[in-house]
Amino acid sequence: MSTQESIANGLSGPIDWEFFLREQRKDRYDAVVIGGGPVGLWSAILTKVHCSSLSILIFEKRPVYLRTHTLSIEQESFEGYEKGINRDLDRVVTDLKQRRVVPIQTLEKQLLDLATKTGIQVIFANVNQPSDLLTHLPEATMFVGADGAQSTVRSQVFDNQARLNQTIHRLIQISYKIRQQDTRSFHLPSSETGFAYKTIASMNTTLIDERTNQKEDSTNKILTFTVSESVFGGVAGATFRSPFTLQTPTLPSEIKDDFLLWTGMKEETDGEVRILDSEAIVGIDGQARISKTFVKSVQGGDARPHYWFLVGDAAASFPLQRGFNVGIKCGIQLAKAIASYYANNSYPIATAQEGIEGQVPLPLAAYAAYGNKIKEEELCFLTCPLTKKQWGIALWKAATKLGSILPAIASLDSTTAERYRKNGKDPGHTAMAHIGAAQASMSAQRTAVAQQVGHSDGQHVTAQGKITELLSRYQAQQQKMG
Ligand SMILES: Cc1cc2nc3c(=O)[nH]c(=O)nc-3n(C[C@H](O)[C@H](O)[C@H](O)COP(=O)(O)OP(=O)(O)OC[C@H]3O[C@@H](n4cnc5c(N)ncnc54)[C@H](O)[C@@H]3O)c2cc1C
Repeated sequence: MSTQESIANGLSGPIDWEFFLREQRKDRYDAVVIGGGPVGLWSAILTKVHCSSLSILIFEKRPVYLRTHTLSIEQESFEGYEKGINRDLDRVVTDLKQRRVVPIQTLEKQLLDLATKTGIQVIFANVNQPSDLLTHLPEATMFVGADGAQSTVRSQVFDNQARLNQTIHRLIQISYKIRQQDTRSFHLPSSETGFAYKTIASMNTTLIDERTNQKEDSTNKILTFTVSESVFGGVAGATFRSPFTLQTPTLPSEIKDDFLLWTGMKEETDGEVRILDSEAIVGIDGQARISKTFVKSVQGGDARPHYWFLVGDAAASFPLQRGFNVGIKCGIQLAKAIASYYANNSYPIATAQEGIEGQVPLPLAAYAAYGNKIKEEELCFLTCPLTKKQWGIALWKAATKLGSILPAIASLDSTTAERYRKNGKDPGHTAMAHIGAAQASMSAQRTAVAQQVGHSDGQHVTAQGKITELLSRYQAQQQKMG
């Protein structure tokens, strides 16, 4: 990609080494992190707080964080985090644990601020040739590839060797908006507000129903469908940057059908009124990948060893729900390994073991040993104990192993399914039925109250105002549909 193309795509151009060394370099760096996404930032900050004398530099190719998905956070992911080592970081961790779900952008901005505050330098530039780092920053000893699932570091430094590399499933995600601020999780206890997992027999696919950002007058929703390879072919080219809509001609009819059924049902059962034309549809190739090597030693021009690491999605990526949590754990282990390396001057070299390449000192090899324990199951929902996740496990099993929907989950008769699909095509329709019922009961109430106290009852005025507002919303929607 040329520099102009990169910038047009919201990315920084490649590093201008001359400019960097002349104008931007602030120090002699000990560690360089490639990728300032959530895991790169987290790992760099932890390393810095464990070993404050280290000078750390991060390269991040996106000058502005634009991704919108949310991350669900699991308490267990922070096992091994040493509270009390840095107050600001403690606050971030407590906040993450309490919120349980956080928009990725919010987290990235928060961590970027903290990285800068702890003295880490961040440069917005694309490292398209990781080997250049050894040439231009020969003083650095540690190089960390935190550059995501399509890692350049992994492909150029680690030869892309994988312990696991498998398409587990193919997903179609539809993001859309509903009108009200809050939504109840379908058929789940009200404490489980973050997620609802549900499949029904009348649908063609399995799906996950997820609530994300809430605004004052709307809530973002994401439906994720697990689909066959042939259905997935229908969304070829639908990416986050260039999503399909419900009107895209190649969108498979079963997906459109199930989307209408689901949203129609949610309107009737939970009062969720979809905002027309708010849909963005993307295809996600559900490829799970775990690197074969996590630590590699490379001799620099000065005959000194330099160590390369992989962390986050670059080390182990899974296409749904767990990547960041696995990244949190790896970041904790990586920071400890680097800090313990700097705590002493010399260490024996680890004997040959899985996950390392070259002459790797023991404390750093410990990180690889941790990486070796990452299992396919850890990346899925299979080891999670909570009720909420058991739905995920069931869904996972159904979607990946059986390729069908769970028989235990409630089925719909075809007449009801058809009614839901009809609702789905005409959002607000059910709300209108409720209005009709409310009007009828209002009119009865009005008569009763009028008989008792006359026509000036304030309650009537308020309720009437609500009805008028709903009516005008519905009419506006009807006009939009032509
Ligand atoms: C829709 C969706 C929902 C998800 N939900 C969850 C969830 O609920 N819970 C969970 O744990 N995980 C979830 N994930 C996964 C999670 O987003 C990732 O695991 C996490 O973002 C990985 O962080 P990372 O920093 O390793 O990689 P990334 O987030 O991919 O960040 C890598 C960074 O490196 C930068 N970069 C890449 N190449 C270069 C280069 N050559 N030079 C400089 N910079 C570079 C990129 O710009 C990026 O900022 C979800 C993912 C998606 C897509």
